[in-house]
Amino acid sequence: MNANFLQTPIAYLKGVGPNRASTLQSELGIQTYQDLINLFPHRYIDKTQYYKINLLQQNTSEVQVVGKITHIKSVAQKKGNRLVATFLDDTGKMELVWFRGQKWIRENLKLNVPYVVFGKTNFYNGTFSMPHPEMELLVDHEKGLKIYMQPVYPSTEKLSNKGITNRVLSKLIQQIFVELNGKFTEALSPKIIEELHLISKSEAMFNIHFPKNQELLAKAQFRLKFEELFYIQLQLIAKNMLHKKRIKGFPFDKVGTIFTDFYNNHLPFELTNAQKRVLKEIRSDLGSNAQMNRLLQGDVGSGKTIVALMAMLLAIDNGFQACLMAPTEILANQHFVGIQELLEGVGITVSLLTGSVKKSARKVIHEQLESGELQILIGTHALLEDKVQYKNLGLAIVDEQHRFGVAQRSKLWHKNTIPPHVLVMTATPIPRTLAMSLYGDLDISVIDELPPGRKPIKTVHRYDSNRLKVFQFIREEIKKGRQIYVVYPLIQESEVLDYKDLMDGYESIVRDFPQPEYQISIVHGQMKPVDKEYEMQRFVKGETQIMVATTVIEVGVNVPNASVMIIESAERFGLSQLHQLRGRVGRGADQSFCILMTSFKLSTEAKTRLETMVRTNDGFEIAEVDLKLRGPGDLMGTQQSGMLNLKIADIVRDNDILKTARYYALQLLKDDPTLAKDENAVINYTYAQLVRHKNIWKYIS
Ligand code: ADP
Ligand code: MG
Repeated sequence: MNANFLQTPIAYLKGVGPNRASTLQSELGIQTYQDLINLFPHRYIDKTQYYKINLLQQNTSEVQVVGKITHIKSVAQKKGNRLVATFLDDTGKMELVWFRGQKWIRENLKLNVPYVVFGKTNFYNGTFSMPHPEMELLVDHEKGLKIYMQPVYPSTEKLSNKGITNRVLSKLIQQIFVELNGKFTEALSPKIIEELHLISKSEAMFNIHFPKNQELLAKAQFRLKFEELFYIQLQLIAKNMLHKKRIKGFPFDKVGTIFTDFYNNHLPFELTNAQKRVLKEIRSDLGSNAQMNRLLQGDVGSGKTIVALMAMLLAIDNGFQACLMAPTEILANQHFVGIQELLEGVGITVSLLTGSVKKSARKVIHEQLESGELQILIGTHALLEDKVQYKNLGLAIVDEQHRFGVAQRSKLWHKNTIPPHVLVMTATPIPRTLAMSLYGDLDISVIDELPPGRKPIKTVHRYDSNRLKVFQFIREEIKKGRQIYVVYPLIQESEVLDYKDLMDGYESIVRDFPQPEYQISIVHGQMKPVDKEYEMQRFVKGETQIMVATTVIEVGVNVPNASVMIIESAERFGLSQLHQLRGRVGRGADQSFCILMTSFKLSTEAKTRLETMVRTNDGFEIAEVDLKLRGPGDLMGTQQSGMLNLKIADIVRDNDILKTARYYALQLLKDDPTLAKDENAVINYTYAQLVRHKNIWKYIS
């Protein structure tokens, strides 16, 4: 009955009506009583304290003072008048000031009676003043419902124009509480409540809206955040379990001769421990009866490619084909060349399929793919075309997944009845926190160790005015036989401007590094793929010493001899992009450098980004900072941001609660996968509602 009552459309609530209802809906997405009580305050004003006037500090937020008005006067100012009241307590004097509504104030204020005033204070000429204070007679204040910690709800201009102020919202919520007698259906099991010492749902709801004190507020927040994160995790984990049960995969049960031969005779280096561990995780997935759905995270240069290749060899050993999809032609090409090199003498057929592969060659690939003659196909989006039909695709690997949408990924195998195993590789280090909430339904492997012998890249920040010194440094490095990247931003909205920046930069470099002593490549998005490829290859082969480029080279390109990365207008890049770019150097044995060039004008956020880059090479640390700066929605694009539309929890700040919630959700499902046990009835009910309505807050109460 509780649940039904809460589904009442908000227009029926006393004091709302159709007009305000439509504003509530459009501004805050509130349609029902339920939605309204799940509108949580984003902060609270502490009204537990009364301040003495002589103890007021400058720059405090709102304060509450008890005192009397001794007299009122009108003061002329440039535009109209202001009304000023002298307000005294037993310690001192301050002013209350009004610019609007003066007539009403003048007629209604009582002199020499105790008032409680509340508001923000200004300090001017040795006196504190409070403009437009909230005020209440002390006698009324003492009679009324004591809201010690005043909630502050989200507000918009439209809302306040329609008179839906903070106070009105609070009153509306109060009404619902009165009608429900303050009783809300419990949504967590007695066991969890007891173990975590949580307060009840009803108590939590009351104290989130009308906190009795700081301590109860903290408990209410904890309990509701936990509940929110718990149900998200429960959903993700259940989905993952169901997936494993329902989606059959091809069992790759043997490690065959090809894998073994490669491992023993062709592996050019010893695998790092992290690579070995991740391979083991992948092998155990592939050997089970379920389809693998794994995200492989590893910082730039951590050696994901070799892991991918060895997984593909397992597929081939078990009689299947494998494919590897990359986001750009350059990268696909590089994978193709690198993998061919690694597979020399192993006797595997590998082909490359990209947009620029000629029709005739394409036809051959299609045929070989269907006959099964072709074992590994590497390529770009071209792999997603309908014409690409495999005989038996057993493993699909997607590199640098942040460039592909989920829908595209599934296109890889939509024709198969049994889907291939899927390995998604990303060098965008997603902080574990976020990965857990976003990809709770994927399994995650992390390569958290770089191959041995890498020297950490030295990163510095230089202003444009130091350019001559930077150029001198470049000359010295080139003299030592090194190669240099100079990267310019490319932001879609101002492609024309960026292009001009790039060309200006290119010309100035050509001037300072004249031919024939210096050879310079240039690559940007407006070039034809063949031309790009040609220029790229010149740099890869060492025919040019400087590569001037836009961010097209961001992803994956591997030129071990390049040891200096100069990033122009570095303040315009995001942190993860800066880190990706820096990852293009530091791949060889030489000391590498990253030079971040900027103008003097820097925002605080840009400064933080630059300082972070200079401080650390650790992609995960950088990702955490990025997450804090930009918020999670941005980091992942819009892809799965629905998950991040949290009402009360914050994925970054509430990391610990998230971990606890995940732990409890996991334990619960391990112990009772179908939530059939009596003790879990409450959770089962809530969960069923949630799955049905796809919104955990709609039906929790
Ligand atoms: P990423 O994870 O960025 O894709 P790559 O797979 O391109 O990294 O590897 C980066 C470089 O490190 C390559 O030149 C690769 O040959 C080398 N590499 C990978 N694993 C090891 C290892 N265990 N020992 C030494 N070098 C390695
Ligand atoms: Mg790579």
